[in-house]
Order: sequence, then structure tokens, then C-alpha cells
Amino acid sequence: MAELDTGFFVRWLTAAAAAVEREADTLTELDSAIGDADHGVNMRRGFTAVTAALAEKPPASPGAALGLAGRTLVSKVGGASGPLYGTLLRRTGRELGDAATVSREDLARALGVGVEAVAALGGAAEGDKTMLDALLPAVRALPRSFAAARQAASEGAVATVPMRARRGRASYLGDRSIGHEDPGAASSLLLVSALEQTAGRGDG
Ligand code: ADP
Ligand code: MG
Repeated sequence: MAELDTGFFVRWLTAAAAAVEREADTLTELDSAIGDADHGVNMRRGFTAVTAALAEKPPASPGAALGLAGRTLVSKVGGASGPLYGTLLRRTGRELGDAATVSREDLARALGVGVEAVAALGGAAEGDKTMLDALLPAVRALPRSFAAARQAASEGAVATVPMRARRGRASYLGDRSIGHEDPGAASSLLLVSALEQTAGRGDG
């Protein structure tokens, strides 16, 4: 299996930032239906800062790249998504340690730990209509392939539409949260799609 090096992780995070930039208005529209209409703004501010930080201090390892990105999100994003995505990337990065390259399976394992840390921090589980509904299926599918992970994230995001929110701002709406896609699940799909795109089709 192809090993993923530091350059791969920098390209992934850069592709994620580009996707967030492109889809920021859509993310904010989703958040205007069941939240406070700032998810696109939050994600754009955070990922613009991530791109700048990676350029300023080129990371020495995959784990360092994720750690830097995670710390940047925590410091730049005020909404719930900043600490949650920040925790995801920092915890995943810590799990990868200082290895110069990692396999897709290593990444799947590390992301599994990172996603569990998000669940612990936010007190959410699958089915609560949050980013976890895209992230957990994606991480479970990643050992199969990058494409399978993206497909699972996509299905997970769509599956949040009929859910009633039990965590985060959307939960204040109760039944009125039903019928809308969760903004954080939509942004998680962007991150997983960027991962597949970076790996290139056919690369596992
Ligand atoms: P805020 O809710 O503070 O305005 P954002 O709008 O940036 O922050 O992010 C909202 C997204 O964060 C939600 O769509 C949801 O996916 C995610 N989220 C919110 N609370 C939680 C939580 N407790 N656990 C997991 N994800 C959460
Ligand atoms: Mg919001």
C-alpha cells in the first residue's frame, strides 16, 4: 500500500481549505436553517488560517501537520466546530506520532481515536445529527478505500436530514431540526472528499 508522507497531509489540508472556501456559503445556509448561520464563516476563517500556518511553518511529519492544523482551528474558530475539528486533528496527529510516513490503515486507526475524542468532548453519539454522523461511517470505511470513506461520509451526511438534533445549537429546535442536513456533517464530507481527491482515484 502506498505510504502517505508529510506532503500528502499538507496537500489534503490545502484541498480541504479550498473546498471549504468554495462551499462556505452552502455551509452557512445549512446553519441558517437549524443554527446561527455561521458555520461557513467559521470554517473559512479556520481553514484560511490553517493554510497560512502550514506555509509559514512547514511541518516535519504527518502528525505535526495535523497537530498544527488542529491547534490553529482551536485558536481561530469561536463556534463549537473549532474545538471539535481542532480536537479531531490534534488527537489524530498525536496518534500518528512522528512517523515520516503512514499507511491508509494507520490513518484509519488514528482517525478512529480522533473521532472518539470528538464524541467525548461534545457528548454526542451517532444519530444525534452532528458531524459524527459523517465522520464515524467514513472512518469505519477507510480501511477499505479512500473512495469508500467518501461514499460513507456522503451517505452519513444525507442520513442526518430526517434526524432530530440532540446535541449542539440545532438541538434547541427540537422537532423543527428535522428535515435539514446538519452543517457539520456537510463540512465533514468536504474534508473526507478532499482526502479522496488528494489520494487520487484508484489509489486504494
Ligand atoms: P456553533 O454551533 O457554535 O454555531 P458551528 O456552526 O461552526 O458552531 O458548527 C455547528 C456544527 O457543529 C453542527 O452542525 C454539528 O455538526 C457540530 N456540533 C455542534 N455541537 C456538537 C457536539 N456536541 N458534538 C459533535 N458535533 C457538534
Ligand atoms: Mg453555527
